[in-house]
Order: sequence, then structure tokens, then C-alpha cells
Amino acid sequence: MTHTHQETKNSTNKSTLFSKIPVPDYEQILNCMHCGMCLPSCPTYEMTGLEKYSPRGRIRMIKAVADGELSITENYIESLDFCLDCQACVTACPAGVEYGKLVEAAHNQISEHQKQNGKNSFKTLILNKLFEKQSRLLSIAFFLKLYQKSGLEFLVQKSKILFLISKKLHNLSFMVPKVPEYKKYEFYTKNQQSTLKGKVGVITGCVQDAFFNNVNHDTIEVLAYNGYEVITPKSQQCCGSVSGHNGELDSARHQAKKIIDQFYTENVDNIIINSAGCGSYMKEYHTLLEDDPIYAEKAIWFSDRVKDISEFLVDQGFIKPVLNRKMIVTYHEPCHLVHGQKISKQPREIIEALPGVEFIEMEESDWCCGSAGIYNITHYDHSMILLERKFDKLKKTKADYVVSGNPGCMIQLAYGNHKFNSDFKILHPVSLLNNFYKGGEDA
Ligand code: SF4
Ligand code: SF4
Repeated sequence: MTHTHQETKNSTNKSTLFSKIPVPDYEQILNCMHCGMCLPSCPTYEMTGLEKYSPRGRIRMIKAVADGELSITENYIESLDFCLDCQACVTACPAGVEYGKLVEAAHNQISEHQKQNGKNSFKTLILNKLFEKQSRLLSIAFFLKLYQKSGLEFLVQKSKILFLISKKLHNLSFMVPKVPEYKKYEFYTKNQQSTLKGKVGVITGCVQDAFFNNVNHDTIEVLAYNGYEVITPKSQQCCGSVSGHNGELDSARHQAKKIIDQFYTENVDNIIINSAGCGSYMKEYHTLLEDDPIYAEKAIWFSDRVKDISEFLVDQGFIKPVLNRKMIVTYHEPCHLVHGQKISKQPREIIEALPGVEFIEMEESDWCCGSAGIYNITHYDHSMILLERKFDKLKKTKADYVVSGNPGCMIQLAYGNHKFNSDFKILHPVSLLNNFYKGGEDA
């Protein structure tokens, strides 16, 4: 729970630097014992060896700001921006410090402080405008598809024309995912089975809808195959996680309420998501909206029903496919699945249930790949250090397929293929499963 700084001041007798700005929960800050157990799990500390880039160091700075001993300086903002929000430190912490909530509140504090000073960060403006309306993302995906299909993308990359403007831009041009053909969703997927197991709603998302529409269709088909009636409310927008992680909590609340309304009236038993970052955020809607007189109860209803697709399938006992295909598969854990939602064994159980599949565990499967929202764009060089480390481990597995349940990780791994001359096939676990159900050869 967040407090106004005035409340914090009253309870701690500290000075007020940022009146009327919500600040991180002071009790959470005090939970940190500064033991340093989180340090070896933190990729940014591992890369730099600097305390200010460790979870403990960042918590110290957040406390200093809350106490009025430190201003919101460029150095402070830079330290928080450098954090991947991978939450590996949360898993490692013996005191149960909810670092993710602290850092989110700190970003909100920074954002409000900047607005009070007439500043709006470029990143905030772009992200808010882009994710405010799903039609904008779909338009971008449409033009990217044309660009890719026309052969222009190939020419631009081959000619290295972007290199003349900027080396980074040239590199980033290879990060754009291959956009699949966009297929509309049926509002209701009527199941032909006589005994239905229940009614579920599928979150189609924003990035997932625009760039991984095929994964959404796989999710719907797998659920229908397993005996569920599936609904996909029309005109779904971003769940608010992008705004929320960027400190724009008002915008996140607005987006959360819209999604809740779409599912609440449908009275579904469960709400299924196939993107780890979004699922992690939606499971916390009850905290995001706890002070809202109209939505607090509805948010609890919603968060209670949100399930990652792999979590749901394993919990419910999914149908085991009969098709046998020889392949070697490994698994990369999305941070917001393993650390954010503590879901780790379920995707592995799905892979291991596939006849003919040899599952090879990769070392450090839970070490961040460097995708982390738009970290691979804003911190390209450090992101590539993490990606190279991931590919070193991946190559050792000699796998044909690397499976991962988050769009950001899938884009980053595909870029790794280009950068490190590999040809892993990259799939969402639900797509691999659906391919076995459908008897396809090309997963
Ligand atoms: S965040 Fe947890 S593990 Fe890290 S220093 Fe604080 S108490 Fe220790
Ligand atoms: S979220 Fe990740 S990068 Fe940030 S402090 Fe924790 S372990 Fe380090």
C-alpha cells in the first residue's frame, strides 16, 4: 500500500521533500536488513559490481529520498532506470522485501515529481501514447507486415543504409519481430463437447495481439480442445503493465478498469493470459485499485481468476497429446513468470508431456535474457551482455527448440539467433502443445 509523503512524515518524523506525491511503502523499505543475500542474483550488480546498481543499494537510495536526505537526482533516476525489474532479488530475499512494489512506487514518485516541475520524460510520453489505444499498435503491426512482405526490410538490412544514420538503429532493425497474418478472434468459441468443463476468458493483450496473434489463437484452440467455452471480449487494450512499470499509475488504473469491465459482466470462471509480464501485473490489480470505491471489489474478483495458461492447464489436468515427434527442447524462464508469479514447473510439465520430446534443462534458465520491457532498446549494450550469456548456455543444450512464455523474451531470443548465428526455433509453450494436438510437422 502506498502512503502520501505527509503520512510517512507523520509516522517517521522525517522532512517532507515531495508533498502530495505518493511515496514507496516505508514499512517495506524498513524490512530490508541490508544483508546482501540478493546481490548475487542481481544481473545489474553482477555486470557492474557497483552497490548503487544492486537491490540493496537502490533500496537505500529510495529510503534516503523518502527521508528527505536525497533529492530526486539524475543519478537516482539513472540507477532505477538501469534496474531490469526482473525481480530475481525478490526470490532471493530472506526477509520477503517486495522490491518490485518499491521500485514501481519510486518510478511513480519520479514521474509525479517531474510533472510538478513541468517535465515529462520522452519515454513516458511515447509509451503512454502508444499503449493508450490498441489501434495504434495494430496499425504499426500492419505497416511492419507490409514492410516485411514487400522485401523492403531485407533490402534495408542488407544495404546497411540505417548504419549511415546510427549503428544502434541498424542493430535494432533486426529486433523487429516477424509479424504473423492477423486473424480476428471469434467473440465466443463454442465448444462442441457435450460436457463443458467451464467458461474462461482469454486476454488478447496489446503487443501479444499485434505481434503474436498466432499465440493467442493457439491459446484459444488449446482451451477449446481441453473442453472449455472460451470468450475473447472485443477491443481489448493494454492491461496497464507498461504504464504501471513506468510509474504512470493513474494511466495503469484507467486501463485496468477497462479490462475488468470487459470480463466482469461475462461471469467467467477464469481469465487466461499467455504473457508473463501482463499476468504478473494483473494478479496485482487488487492492490492497484484497493482504494477505489467502485473497483476495489471487482479487482479482487479479477485478480483471483487470472491464471497463466501453463498454470491453468497443469492445474486442471490438460489432455496429453498422442503425436510422437523427435525433438530436443529447452526452456527459458521469463522473469515475471518465475520470480513474479512463482510459476516454474508448469511449463516444464507441459513440455515433458509431449511424446518424443527430449527436454534438456539449460543452466541459469532463470537468469534474465535482457529483454525486460524496452530495456533492450534503452540499454542496448547491457542487454546484449545478458543475451550473450543466455546464448552461451542455450548453445550448450544443443536444443532444436527454445520455449518461453513471454512476448518480450521471444523477441529477444529471436534477435539472439541473428546476433549469435544460431537457429533455435522459438515458441510459446502453448504453441508447441497446440502443434502436437493438431498433428503438425512445423511447430
Ligand atoms: S533486499 Fe532482502 S536480500 Fe537484499 S539486502 Fe535487503 S533484506 Fe537482504
Ligand atoms: S529487479 Fe533485477 S535488476 Fe533490479 S535490483 Fe532486483 S535483481 Fe537487480
